[in-house]
This record gives sequence, C-alpha cells and structure tokens, in this order.
Amino acid sequence: MILFFLTFAAFSGLYFGFAWLTLHLPGHKIDHRPLRKNQIRNEIGLSMISIACFSGIAVVTKWLVELGILEVTWEIVWWKLPLEIAVLFFWNEIHFYLCHRLLHTSWLYRHVHVRHHRSVVPTPYSTYSFHFVEALLLGSVMTTALLFYPFSLVSLMTLPLMSIILNALGHLNADLFPSRPLSHPLAFARRHSMHHSQNSGNYGFFLPWFDMWFRSAIKQKGR
Ligand SMILES: [Zn+2]
Ligand SMILES: [Zn+2]
Repeated sequence: MILFFLTFAAFSGLYFGFAWLTLHLPGHKIDHRPLRKNQIRNEIGLSMISIACFSGIAVVTKWLVELGILEVTWEIVWWKLPLEIAVLFFWNEIHFYLCHRLLHTSWLYRHVHVRHHRSVVPTPYSTYSFHFVEALLLGSVMTTALLFYPFSLVSLMTLPLMSIILNALGHLNADLFPSRPLSHPLAFARRHSMHHSQNSGNYGFFLPWFDMWFRSAIKQKGR
C-alpha cells in the first residue's frame, strides 16, 4: 500500500509540476480555438484516475518481481545505463504506437479512447486524461519491457519521467520548434495537435517514423 501512495504522490507531483512548467514556455500557438467548458477540470479528474491505475500497475509489477515472474536488476552498471535508457525510449515509442492504433479501432475508440479525444484542443493537463482501460493499456509499458530484459531500477525510473516530459510538451498546443518540418521528431507537438483535431492519423508520439513507415502520417496543408 505504501508503494501505491508513494507512486501516486510522485506521479501527481510530476503531472502538475510539468503541466505548470510547460505552460510557462514561450511557443507558437497551434490551435486557436477555445477550450471546452470545464475542460481542464475534467482533464485533471480523469488524469488522477489514470495515475491511480499507474500506481496499481507499479504494485502488481513489484508483486510479479517478488514472485520471480519478472526480474529487475538492482545494481547499477554505469556503462549499461545509457543503452538501457535508449532501448526503453524506443520501446516507449513502439508500445505507444501499437496501443494507440489499437485504441483507434472502432469499438475501443467509441468506448474508451473517445475520452482522451474530448480534448479537441489539447492542454498539458490532457496528458493522462484517459478512460481507465486506456490508462491500464498505456501504463503497461514498463511491465511489458521487463518481459524481454531485466532492466535496472534506475533505467526503469527514467521511463515515467520521459513519458511525462514528452506528453506535457506534446499536449501543450504550442510549437516550440515551428521552423522544423512536420517529419522532424521535434515537430511532435504539432503532429499530436493535428491528431487531436482530426481524430485519426499521426498515431506515434515523439518519433515520426512509424507513421511514415505504416502510411498513417497526416499531411500538413501548404507544406
Ligand atoms: Zn488518439
Ligand atoms: Zn493526446
């Protein structure tokens, strides 16, 4: 139970901290339409439920490690850390693309993912504004990584940090790199805003390559 509350408190702190921080960044506003009535309040409410789901997953993962079903490396091997973090970053991108495409299948979209898409104009508070099924699906990124390799605890801890930074920036509705073409990784906020306004295409997050390879990228008019 302590792990549940610690994870909930840490994740909530990161969620509110990065939402507040990113809102103070100078950026090129992407979508000028107004927010829905009570949008931010609803986004925070749903995000709190998602963070509770992530905390539950942390408890279950610890339990699976204790049972010997999953393995975590406790000692730190410094030369391995950057490699492990790079692998986890790519896994996070692949996992998100696969889950997000699944969430856009007809039934899952209508019953689950539609909640995230209520934020037609995203805000950093939309980051975890999910149906709880979506939170459980996307929150499985760390647990599923451990099915393949016993990552170190330090590398694993960078995963939620990477996720929250990229998600807060990606839902900012402000482009910090407006001169970059849409196919550039740093145009991720523009690509994800287009996904929110058009409801299909651009299923990847930071890396544009999966949408390019699987022909799911949205073309930007006039570019
Ligand atoms: Zn979507
Ligand atoms: Zn989104």
